Amino acid sequence: MNVLLLLFFPSAVSKVRTWALDREVFQNIMRRTAETRQEQHRNFLRSVPLLENLPEEKLSKMVDCLEVEYYNKGEYVIREGEEGSTFFIIAQGKVKVTQMSDAHTAPQTINTLQRGDYFGEKALISDDVRSANIVADENGVECLVIDRETFDQTVGTFHELQKYLQGYVATLERDDKKRHGRKSLSRHQSQPLSPDVVQLKDLVSAFPSSRPFDLLDSVATLGVGGFGRVELVKVKDKDVTFALKVIKKKHVVDNRQEEHVHSERKILAEARSPFVVKLYRTFKDNKYVYMLLEACLGGEIWSLLRDRGSFDESTSKFCVACVTEAFDYLHRKGVLYRDLKPENLMLDTDGYIKLVDFGFAKKIRCGQKTWTFCGTPEYVAPEIILNQGHSLSVDFWSLGILVFELLTGSPPFCGTDQMMTYTFILKGIEKMDFPRKITKRPEDLIRKLCRPNPSERLGNLKNGITDIKKHRWFNGFNWEGLKVRTLSSPLKREVSGPTDHRYFDSYAPDEDSPPDEFSGWDVDF
Ligand code: ATP
Ligand code: MG
Repeated sequence: MNVLLLLFFPSAVSKVRTWALDREVFQNIMRRTAETRQEQHRNFLRSVPLLENLPEEKLSKMVDCLEVEYYNKGEYVIREGEEGSTFFIIAQGKVKVTQMSDAHTAPQTINTLQRGDYFGEKALISDDVRSANIVADENGVECLVIDRETFDQTVGTFHELQKYLQGYVATLERDDKKRHGRKSLSRHQSQPLSPDVVQLKDLVSAFPSSRPFDLLDSVATLGVGGFGRVELVKVKDKDVTFALKVIKKKHVVDNRQEEHVHSERKILAEARSPFVVKLYRTFKDNKYVYMLLEACLGGEIWSLLRDRGSFDESTSKFCVACVTEAFDYLHRKGVLYRDLKPENLMLDTDGYIKLVDFGFAKKIRCGQKTWTFCGTPEYVAPEIILNQGHSLSVDFWSLGILVFELLTGSPPFCGTDQMMTYTFILKGIEKMDFPRKITKRPEDLIRKLCRPNPSERLGNLKNGITDIKKHRWFNGFNWEGLKVRTLSSPLKREVSGPTDHRYFDSYAPDEDSPPDEFSGWDVDF
């Protein structure tokens, strides 16, 4: 039979007119379309000076590994100043090339590029600091892309191909000089306290060191845990609220958590990052220690994820970028966080994320390992389960788990009990098939963050956390805008005022009063 093979035998029940497509014709059409496309892509590649001397078979390999990506009007393909490893050819549509002339004015359009034009070719050879923004100028811009990793694996490394790329080297070296002059300074020193924070600190420093409720009214409970609760409190006669974490001292002592609570207090008191919750003051009395924190009224990422099922890519990317900034800050200070999960990510009124709950955070010296088994089962790294000693890279593992959970609604390793979860974690992610919801780029990021060997994890390689920010999933992401908070958050929700707690679940009041505790572990509070 030379027509489409059907698995059933249709018979006409009325007068029917059909179109028939012969298999050979169909296959010919498909082949010709593919060949035309290949030829077109080959021509595109040949027109790039960097590649003009590349042998035919290398070019064919390159054609085979080109990927197609689409952008809508206004979307950034690449961003000025970002380091990239991807090369692009425009197959359809137009893009604008824009550049900042100074920090205070909007980027100026300096060129437009269209079908057949290319950009970012230096990225195939070495890290390319993008010298301009490339922004889609219409919907459905189609780009052919290839990144250096694929290029190196399939076509060859720069070193291997040097003889074909000779002519290009001189240009590259010249550009390199320029590039080194452009490297942006790290903006990750602790930020100075803003005037509002200083004002609030002054306000609460006048409070006595115990009985905080003489000066604060409880508005609602924001969260509960084994430790006690977190209350939204309002300063009497002022339109100012805080989140007060109330911790039962007896519970801390019974569970030998004194060190952890100390460490939480100390790390939070020293932290000055917009991505880490602020601690304004601590108090203590016979039954409790208290931490007066900045209130994050946008609610938990956890409850939002529960309500939405999963997040789309740009929302997930925004969350992961905030956490990456928080980790960048903390790791520079030698602090590992160790308890990443959606429950510990709170939204402020701008829809920006802040890390809360530093109960497991620990300051370590450079290169030092730590051994305490802690974290949340679904998020713990294999070296914690195997008790091999762990370091900063446990946070990168958990970041990979977070990307997975945000995009799908559940973490990748999830058993009916903890032991089963740990067994899955130890089996690893390498052989696991990913759900279709996770596209290629985030899949690649997750796989690189969840390498079983901590020293191979992205974030823990020679370029540190920059590798995460430069990962292809973040191409075009406005990191600068995130740092200065001009990037608008996809998670921003309306908050009517400082006592609005609509985004929190309701909790029954805590009736029982814990026993007094006098061992004195809480002198610092
Ligand atoms: P658990 O061990 O159960 O996670 P915990 O001791 O770690 O409890 P936190 O995670 O710090 O306590 O706080 C518990 C919950 O309280 C959070 O998940 C969050 O819902 C809420 N919460 C904590 N800090 C804040 C804050 N600054 N603003 C608003 N809500 C907060
Ligand atoms: Mg918590």
